[in-house]
Amino acid sequence: MSDRFRVVIVGGGVAGMAIATRLGNSLGRSGKLDITLVDKGFSHVWKPMLHCFAAGTAKNENDRITFISHAAAHGFRFCYGEIAGIDRAAKRLKLAPLEEEDHEVLLDERYLDYDVLIFAIGSRANDFGTPGVVENCIFLDNIVEANNFNERFRHAVIQAYGRGSPLDIAIVGGGATGVQLAAELHKALDIGSLYNFTPVTPEMRVTLLEAGPRILPAFPENVSAAAQKQLEALKIKVLTSTMVSGADEHGFMLKDGTRVDAQFRVWAAGVKAPDVTRQMDGLECGRGGQFLVRPNLQTTLDDSIFAVGDCAFISDSPLAPTAQVARQQAHHLARYLPGFIFNKKPVPAFKFKNRGAIVALGDYNGWGAFADGKTFGGGFMHGLSARLGHMALYRQHQFELYGPFRGMIACFTDWLDGFVRPPVRMD
Ligand SMILES: Cc1cc2nc3c(=O)[nH]c(=O)nc-3n(C[C@H](O)[C@H](O)[C@H](O)COP(=O)(O)OP(=O)(O)OC[C@H]3O[C@@H](n4cnc5c(N)ncnc54)[C@H](O)[C@@H]3O)c2cc1C
Repeated sequence: MSDRFRVVIVGGGVAGMAIATRLGNSLGRSGKLDITLVDKGFSHVWKPMLHCFAAGTAKNENDRITFISHAAAHGFRFCYGEIAGIDRAAKRLKLAPLEEEDHEVLLDERYLDYDVLIFAIGSRANDFGTPGVVENCIFLDNIVEANNFNERFRHAVIQAYGRGSPLDIAIVGGGATGVQLAAELHKALDIGSLYNFTPVTPEMRVTLLEAGPRILPAFPENVSAAAQKQLEALKIKVLTSTMVSGADEHGFMLKDGTRVDAQFRVWAAGVKAPDVTRQMDGLECGRGGQFLVRPNLQTTLDDSIFAVGDCAFISDSPLAPTAQVARQQAHHLARYLPGFIFNKKPVPAFKFKNRGAIVALGDYNGWGAFADGKTFGGGFMHGLSARLGHMALYRQHQFELYGPFRGMIACFTDWLDGFVRPPVRMD
């Protein structure tokens, strides 16, 4: 057992990876802290790119960061596993048994002791219990689902080409995820049609369904209107104020009694925390299952446990589940945890600095909104500034994790890759 202070971070996404890397670089390498990152996957991906991986317009082989090697280079340890519970009195967390697909147990239940525990386990789309959705829709919440999505998407496209029949795709959720995914799928089909592998390109019909009165509700109305216009120019059908009441293997049932039929059905609406948050020894959760935290990100009932990013909910001042919030909260904890651990100084309240938001519709267009509501993008440059800004956020994250030198090399190899491989995944 380690005699150093043990920090365990569960979840190596946007927030968890930033905390582990920062604390590891400053206090893990020097041996002052014993830091362990737990994740149910083997590699980190920048989740805001999942829709590109799903459409095949980005190659996640280049964009994944392997936890084990990253941890070794940055002064922390990686533990592969899925959290299944905690014992708060004993300060011990339980990892679920590791099973093969055929349920053969590779590793029994395991336990990890902590002095400080940080939850950064993110979120999932929320089907709100809508009948048939889990069984009949594809979700896009992690890299496994994105890869599975891509495989099924390619099969559906091949089927449409082979049969010469149209392919209907329906996406539920007109937030940034659904809107960007619709555009990215269109881009993939556009590029694919250039390869001309049958004399006639079958029709691909994408429908976006949104329950609210407009798409991109987190953006100003002019951005919503411009984005809808752009999607419609791409022949993507946008149905707003459209409430889905169920799904089956042929499509979606709507509340008004009509249907939208589609071979390919995607659920990209709503946000909730992973179900496991409710099994954490009585820690308080909000309606969407997120851990309730105080303004300084400490959970309401336990001073030794913090939560950040999408899985945390500050009751006094709720924040949107975005990568920007997750990163800033991670930086806040990485900055103030050392004082809390070594000098018993309370962690101050987290203050969110709204730097605006960006949405990119593939290569077609993009918009940004500043905190004061002013917008940019669109126009004759097709939102080049917003599209570049969107990409810059990813590169900034990559530079933060890799450091400047390896970050530059990663950018350069991505650029070189563009000369060697097709711009959309074909295999
Ligand atoms: C398609 C898509 C596009 C998006 N686009 C944008 C955008 O343009 N801008 C923006 O700001 N935000 C965007 N978001 C939202 C953004 O990705 C999230 O807000 C952000 O990733 C949250 O970071 P996080 O660290 O809280 O969680 P995540 O980045 O989701 O990381 C959670 C980690 O926890 C791990 N984990 C989960 N459960 C367990 C468990 N039980 N045990 C162990 N490990 C576990 C996961 O494997 C994962 O590594 C997008 C999201 C999606 C899905």
